[in-house]
Amino acid sequence: MTQDERSGQVMSQGVMSTGEGMRIFPDVEACIDCGGCVVACKRTWDREIHNQRIDITTMAEGRAGPQGENADKTDRLAAGERPGETSLPMQCYHCENAPCVSVCPTNALQKEDDGFVSVSEDLCVGCQYCLSGCPFGAPQFPDSNEGTAQLFGTGGIMDKCTGCRERQDVQKGPACAEECATDAILVGSAGEIADELEKRDSGSFFNDEAMEIIFGADDAQLFSDQ
Ligand code: SF4
Ligand code: SF4
Repeated sequence: MTQDERSGQVMSQGVMSTGEGMRIFPDVEACIDCGGCVVACKRTWDREIHNQRIDITTMAEGRAGPQGENADKTDRLAAGERPGETSLPMQCYHCENAPCVSVCPTNALQKEDDGFVSVSEDLCVGCQYCLSGCPFGAPQFPDSNEGTAQLFGTGGIMDKCTGCRERQDVQKGPACAEECATDAILVGSAGEIADELEKRDSGSFFNDEAMEIIFGADDAQLFSDQ
């Protein structure tokens, strides 16, 4: 099946197309912090309890104050107000301009031709540079306190979201996206994701620099009105 054929295939509201060239991106306004994606990922890939290939960061919303955005949230909570929350599913977005790939000294991380960012376990030396380089907290080091990692003082082997490439190879969406009750994880081309967010009247949440990392400068423009 070609990318064009896949692009024309509407699979569900959140998963629009799969496979080569796909992007994965959250609709922050749809996320209700239920944790369904975390469970779906762990059940699919049998990850350890402390290995979060996807996690949800929830922020209490305040208002802009003299110290910056959200600076008044503590005061508002103390005053008995109930500022809203923003929940952000964090995982590897398989960035177009992936900083993790740039900083990895052993080429263990690669941006593949089909768009996925992959990890070669046999090349990873556990330096954790990728953890510093990734703006989205995606790299995980589940073995950093165990076994040889502990003995030799390395971070162990890096682990992260694979984009469920094996599922996408058979035209299934990533488990997190397929099982999200509110379709808060969008999968498809950059254009499909931008269109879906616009249809939902949802913002893209991240700042311009982050959008250029995730989508590249050209495709980031697709989101510029949101
Ligand atoms: S920078 Fe982070 S989110 Fe982007 S490809 Fe690397 S690990 Fe994934
Ligand atoms: S921990 Fe592994 S994948 Fe990450 S930068 Fe170091 S060698 Fe590369």
